[in-house]
Amino acid sequence: MRKVVKNDTVKVISGNYRGKTGKVLKVFPKKNRIIVEGVNLRKHHERPSQALPQGGIIEKEAPIHISNVKVVCPKCGRPTRVGIRILEDNSKVRYCKHQDCGEII
Ligand SMILES: [Zn+2]
Repeated sequence: MRKVVKNDTVKVISGNYRGKTGKVLKVFPKKNRIIVEGVNLRKHHERPSQALPQGGIIEKEAPIHISNVKVVCPKCGRPTRVGIRILEDNSKVRYCKHQDCGEII
């Protein structure tokens, strides 16, 4: 089970974007990389297209490694490590590892 999934809110803990939080837009499970909204922007030169009639330079998120982020717990609002717990019906859930929280994410 993946610890970071699409639409999670994560906080960047290392690199140029340290401290920034954003939503996970895309996950590349095999590469352990994710794209986070507004994080690791790279400039791309684009040819003119329908969406961008003038062409030019646009900024786009580049993937970052999963180990550079922490999931922000939706309940306690703190960046946390994510635990995996197996329920009685054998389904797996993710939970916040803060001892005073433990919310299922
Ligand atoms: Zn929590």
